[in-house]
Order: sequence, then structure tokens, then C-alpha cells
Amino acid sequence: MADLYVDGEWRASASGRQREIRCPADGSHVASVSEGTRADAEDAIRAARRAFDEGAWPHTPERERGALLLRVAGLLEEQVAAFARAESLDTGKRLVESEFDVADVVACFRWFGSVAGAHAGRVVDTGSDDAISRVVYEPVGVCGLITPWNYPLLQAAWKVAPALAAGNTLVLKPSELTPSTSVLLMGVLAEAGLPPGVANLVLGAGPEVGAPLAESPDVDLVSFTGGLETGRRVMAASAATVKKVALELGGKNPNVVFADADLDTALDFALTAVFLHSGQVCSAGTRLIVEDSVHDSFVDELVRRAELIRLGGPFDADAETGPLISAAHRDKVEEYVAVGVAEGAVLRCGGRRPDGARLQDGFYYPPTVLDECHQGMRAVHEESFGPVLTVERFADEDDAVRIANDTEYGLAGAVWTQDAGKAQRVARRLRHGTVWINDYHPYLPQAEWGGFGRSGIGRELGPSGLDEYREPKHIWQNIRPRPQRWFSG
Ligand code: NAD
Repeated sequence: MADLYVDGEWRASASGRQREIRCPADGSHVASVSEGTRADAEDAIRAARRAFDEGAWPHTPERERGALLLRVAGLLEEQVAAFARAESLDTGKRLVESEFDVADVVACFRWFGSVAGAHAGRVVDTGSDDAISRVVYEPVGVCGLITPWNYPLLQAAWKVAPALAAGNTLVLKPSELTPSTSVLLMGVLAEAGLPPGVANLVLGAGPEVGAPLAESPDVDLVSFTGGLETGRRVMAASAATVKKVALELGGKNPNVVFADADLDTALDFALTAVFLHSGQVCSAGTRLIVEDSVHDSFVDELVRRAELIRLGGPFDADAETGPLISAAHRDKVEEYVAVGVAEGAVLRCGGRRPDGARLQDGFYYPPTVLDECHQGMRAVHEESFGPVLTVERFADEDDAVRIANDTEYGLAGAVWTQDAGKAQRVARRLRHGTVWINDYHPYLPQAEWGGFGRSGIGRELGPSGLDEYREPKHIWQNIRPRPQRWFSG
């Protein structure tokens, strides 16, 4: 297949090799795609470099760039069904979830399209009538964009939309497991009128086609979303050329439930917080931290309802959540549960692969609850990225905050209480990039997303998400130049 997109042309990999994409729900064949090589990545970088250095895109008026993004949003909206189907086949997630994702992607392109040009710069008071000073924003240059498999199109949109709005050129490298919607996205960008070379796509394994993006002296910025270990490698590889680095990494996100919360609603959301997309969500509420006095009844009911969650494939009308992405990932999740039990956690539900012929061809793993956990456990600190909830107790507000913040990560968290003052106090004390009060999971393209601590560097979405892709430049003009005579000679 010719599905690498370089300099406005579709082409096959330099090696001619292919990768089979299989649906994690049943192992069925989805597509054969080109397996890119380092040479393909270097070609794509060269094309993006040329388009930046010699092309019109960086100098195209921001409003025109914004208009193109709005056209992309419109085209995506017309093709929701095709994008959602492709996303579900690659990831195994329910079709309805993919439809939500595409709607969010439309909103993302629309927002960045509408703000392009809205923050063009500012005039600065020089304190003198003889000089004019202004700050302008310019594109950073060539951007290497590396994305994961859990929200393939969404994560690509969070990078591609602001990168283009700011006038950059780019090379997108999606996860090798889920390339289909990135291929479709390139088609839409071309259809919307993006000039050749501005957006390029390489497919393939991280060390082969991802690493060159971090290493290349011709790439000015690398924005990576993925796991902590890979993020460290990307950052280290970027150091040699001192490029800008943005990292969106994992999370061990606390979901804090006080006894005075609306407990029925808190319980309903605690389930979606952690088990949505079978826990393969960077902001999943994997650590339930519940006030001692309501712990027993809350967890009993949570376990009862977790056991009722129905597993199934993307097009199974009865299914409430899907499979894990791969056999290797399921092995990792299983090991994580075993470690938790060995450390003394009480396995309340799940914890073993489902029986029955219906689910045997997919990588299914049931919602799993580990109770009576504490901060000393590896299971509480490390990201499983699966449907595994650890439950801890707290005694009072200070205790809740201490436990919630006791993580190397800091991506997101929630607090549940009907006391508005306590909600605000705790929200301010949580060292996490997003905090929900009496809710879980919503986000907006106009509000920043990103992490404290080892959840990453920089922000996506919101005005800061655009600023990641812009270089501020100070221009000073002396309008009455005359000798200064600092030196006497
Ligand atoms: P991963 O780190 O295995 O891979 C991410 C991407 O990096 C893939 O495209 C992969 O091919 C590429 N890659 C691998 N090795 C590379 C290298 N040496 N150089 C350059 N690129 C390389 O992550 P994953 O398993 O695809 O995704 C799951 C992880 O992503 C989880 O840890 C999750 O928390 C995180 N995530 C974070 C956010 C966020 O917003 N913070 C969002 C989604 C996912």
C-alpha cells in the first residue's frame, strides 16, 4: 500500500515492507500498511524542512491558515462514520466512543481554526517616544509529532491543529498499532488545500521512524504523547540538538470521594473514571481514595456494578467496553494485578481473563478492583493502563490531599463533595494538571491539558497549546537613531 504521505504524494515504504493491522477485539485483518524506515522518516523531514524554509505556509496570513483548519473541521464532520469505523477497528473501542472522539477532533480543529490570528502579538511600552517595541509570534519550524494508540486521531489532532495554526510544517508519526485514522487525516488535510510538504506522515515502529524525529537537526520541535519510558528516550535524543520538547505522558490519577458527596453519582462516575475504554486512558481515575466512614458500603456497591460491565467488540450493541490493545499489553496488566495481590491488596472482582468462546479471539480483561491498598504498593504507583482500580482509605481532608498527591505523576484528578468550600480547597491543593469537582473526564479544546511532575512538559489545547508551537520574537525599532557616545573615541 502507498500510505506514507511525503511532500504531497502517497508512497510505499523504502523497504517495501508491510505491517498487518489486526482488530484487538477478534484478531480480524483490518489493513496492510507500509512499514516505514529511517530513510522514509528522513525524506519526510526533508520535505517538511523545504516547505518551511522555502514554502508559503509559514508566511500565509494567520486568518487564512485558520480558514483552512475550519475547512478541515467541516470535512471531518462529513466523514465521521468512516473515521469512527477506522478508529474502532484499529483500537477495538466501541463505535460510539470513536464517534465521540471524532466529534471532539472536529471541535479541536474548529477552535484552533478560530483562534489563529487572534493573538497576533502586542505592542510594548518602551518608556520613550524615540523607540517602538513589539512582540510578534512566529512558527517554531519543523515539528515531529509522535502519538499513541489509545486515542490515535484525537492525539494527532491536539498536535496537528495548533502546529498548522501557528504556521509550522510537520511530520506525524502515529502508533504502529493504530495508523488508519492518521492516514485518513492526511487525505482530509490535502482535500482542504494544505500545500505539499506542510504535513507529512510516516508509519512504522518507534525506534525506526519515531527516533529520527527526535534526533534530526532539521526538526525544531518534538511533541510526544506516550509512556514515561519512551518520553525519557525522546527527551534524551532531543537534547543533542536542543530542540523544543513537549511531553504528554502517563498518570496515576486520584479520584477522591468524601463521605458528604452525592454518593450515588460519585459511584457512577468512579466506574467510568477508571473502566472507560478498559482503562486505556491517560487520565483514568485508577486510584479511588475514599473516606473511611463510607468505604465499605461504597466499595461493595462499586464491585457489584463493576462485575456487571459487559465486554465486547466495537460493533457489538450490547458491549459497554472493549478489549485491551494487544496480547503484550494484556500480559502487562495481568502481571500488575498479580503484583498488587502479592503486595497484600484484596482482589474484589475481575483479575482473570473471561471464560467463554465469544471473547477468546480478543485481548479482553475484565474490570478489576484491588481493595485495601496503600501508598507503599507498586500497584498504586505504576501505571497499568488497564481496567484496574486500586482503593485506598483516608481519614480527613489533609490525609486525602496527601494520598492524592503521593505520585510521581500529576495529570488529572477529581474530588467529590457537596461542600463547595472543601471542593475548592482540595482542588487547589491537588498537584495535577486537570481537577474535576463532582465530575470526571470532561475537557475542552479551549482549556489547557497536561501534567505536573512526570506526567509531562508543556500543555496541549487552550492558548498555551498554541504557544507551544510559536516562538515569541521581540522587535525593537529606534525611530530617532543618533550616536550614543558611550565610548569617548
Ligand atoms: P509508547 O510510549 O509505547 O508509544 C508512543 C509513541 O512513541 C508510539 O508512536 C511509538 O511508536 C513511539 N515510540 C516508541 N519508541 C520510540 C522512540 N525510541 N523514539 C520515538 N518514538 C518512539 O506509548 P503507547 O503505549 O502508545 O501509549 C500509552 C501511553 O501513552 C500511556 O503511558 C499513556 O498514559 C500515555 N498517554 C498520555 C496522554 C496524555 O495526554 N498525557 C494521552 C494518551 C496516552
